[in-house]
Amino acid sequence: MADQTVHDVVIIGSGPAGLTAAIYTARANLNPLVLEGEPSSTSDQPGGQLMLTTEVENFPGFPEGIMGPELMMNFRAQAIRFGAEVQTVKASKVDLSERPFKIWVGDTEAEPTHLAKTVIVSTGAQSIMLGLDREVELIGHGVSTCATCDGFFFRDQEIAVVGGGDSALEEANFLSRFASKVYIVVRRDELRASKIMQDRANANPKIEFLWNTSVVEYVGDKKLESVKVRNNLDESISDLAVTGLFIAIGHKPNTSLFEGQLDMKDNGYLLAQPGRTATNIEGVFASGDVQDDYYRQAITAAGSGCQAALEAERWLEANEEGH
Ligand code: NDP
Repeated sequence: MADQTVHDVVIIGSGPAGLTAAIYTARANLNPLVLEGEPSSTSDQPGGQLMLTTEVENFPGFPEGIMGPELMMNFRAQAIRFGAEVQTVKASKVDLSERPFKIWVGDTEAEPTHLAKTVIVSTGAQSIMLGLDREVELIGHGVSTCATCDGFFFRDQEIAVVGGGDSALEEANFLSRFASKVYIVVRRDELRASKIMQDRANANPKIEFLWNTSVVEYVGDKKLESVKVRNNLDESISDLAVTGLFIAIGHKPNTSLFEGQLDMKDNGYLLAQPGRTATNIEGVFASGDVQDDYYRQAITAAGSGCQAALEAERWLEANEEGH
């Protein structure tokens, strides 16, 4: 049902950026409404990418590390404690052409579901998939983008991780706690991952790198039984007998909702003013990974959520009576 309240702040997305913006705007008595998204098999879900992460060792304040999902539950509880309203729904359409801004949940032909004086966009980014036949069908049946969610199911089995960045190596290290063997399938002869992650993977006896190799086909009817891999040097195809394949080849921003309304970079990330979260539309702020193709860290996302909250608060003070 349409909500006729004109909210001071509606926050779209609930990763570190959105929930930090919620904590700050709630403590500024702006009663933020957070549309946190809906559970899904990808990182486009409440809590964002950290829900698909294992241990987070580099978030300041946790000297022993903390599990990604637990960290996000803490963010959420902190926002709610100060009065943020969190709804487990996904925005289906926005109209930022005039104020109050209009936001729909569900039926995009109906009246707008929410009206807002300011909008903080923190919809994050999500995993890129390989794009092979039957990939979506096989998610949850052997194909995964989430070691934390699915690693447990591969106890004593041979599995593979695709990718050569920090994500792939981190997933492989975590998965080696369950699996009997973890192949890391790398399309070139070089990794992008940081030295410390490379050292850890190299020291892990359960991990084996398959260099210059690409996964080209999923084998198995209802669940994954193996994958076909191509050697990129001699083009030969062979079978790799793994029952699990974890895809960790990078991310794309969740910006389709804002196409034609908010300025974007060539790679689809939102374009904010340098050093700011202000977008091309006054009163609309972009924070976190949705506008960050460079740092992409939980702590930088949280910092940018704080910036967006302060910018929204100041914008309201300057543009609205009674604030
Ligand atoms: P990256 O972009 O760093 O790495 C992506 C990897 O996937 C590259 O090795 C790339 O290969 C490979 N790749 C891309 N497309 C394909 C494809 N179609 N088939 C096969 N391989 C492919 O992404 P990450 O998600 O690993 O990391 C993103 C950022 O997050 C980085 O800055 C990283 O440092 C950070 N991060 C930090 C962590 C930590 O500090 N604990 C943990 C996880 C991530 P190629 O090199 O050939 O392009």
